[in-house]
Amino acid sequence: MQTQLRIAVQKSGRLSDDSIQLIRECGIKFYNGAGKLKTEATNFPAELLFLRDDDIPRYVEDGVADIGIIGENVFVETQSQADLVKRLGFSKCRLSLALPKAVDYQGVQQFDGMRIATSYPNLLNKYFAGKGIKADIHEISGSVEIAPSIGLADAVCDIVSSGSTLLSNGLKEVETIFESEAVMIARKELGPLKEAILKKLLFRIESVQKAKGNRYILLNAPNTAIAKITNLLPGIKSPTILPLAEEGWSSLHSVIGEDEFWDIIESLKEAGAQGILVVPIEKMIA
Ligand code: ATP
Ligand code: MG
Repeated sequence: MQTQLRIAVQKSGRLSDDSIQLIRECGIKFYNGAGKLKTEATNFPAELLFLRDDDIPRYVEDGVADIGIIGENVFVETQSQADLVKRLGFSKCRLSLALPKAVDYQGVQQFDGMRIATSYPNLLNKYFAGKGIKADIHEISGSVEIAPSIGLADAVCDIVSSGSTLLSNGLKEVETIFESEAVMIARKELGPLKEAILKKLLFRIESVQKAKGNRYILLNAPNTAIAKITNLLPGIKSPTILPLAEEGWSSLHSVIGEDEFWDIIESLKEAGAQGILVVPIEKMIA
């Protein structure tokens, strides 16, 4: 049988949709019927395993899966021996300390001696150790944010993205202890065949990531404005310039950073650019 790379992704949760979308954007096709735990890609030597996110670091370490997509927070908390091979840029969140709103916050030393509920005792211990703080850390696996209101803890350390869950539980975020995003992890010593498949996959991921941050820009301009407009467009190299049927006019094509575009649009128009089109790029190879 052909060697397959076993890729573990979260079955259902905050990482699932983006993980699956990334794999599909890499041109890898598979069917994931409801409730399926395992599926084979139809056009790439890979098999997908759908698991609880907390189990992924262990499965990758033990060789049940070869690689996995997981929140960096869980990867670091589980003290996994797997390698972090790529940051993926989605499921961004932070691990923060929060106190009941009414508590006056003076600084991190205030946590000394407090009872703190969290699902991330290792990360929190490490953070406190670096600051010489001794706290009474209670590990609980879910609904951490209700711990203070039921008298279980004085403070919490939990995952935050917008902060609305904390607010609706009468808490305020006071310190960020860890910034997280989805990461790809891999088992050590995959062997040459699986290493080669992983390399192919990483190359595709990089092309997709590069394309996401960039746009293809097309515009028309009088030939007299080409020099000025070329200066405004950073481009991969210099822009492509094609003559238009209309005498004295050209079409300029280039690649531009997604964020850069909004900064230069006014200057482009002032310089004489017309009919500006900005279109997404599907894949970008360096
Ligand atoms: P499972 O049932 O698989 O154990 P879970 O409930 O433990 O799921 P999720 O809530 O789906 O986990 O979160 C998975 C990961 O997504 C977290 O470990 C974190 O990295 C990231 N994450 C969590 N909350 C958010 C958020 N609000 N915004 C963005 N990313 C988040
Ligand atoms: Mg989980």
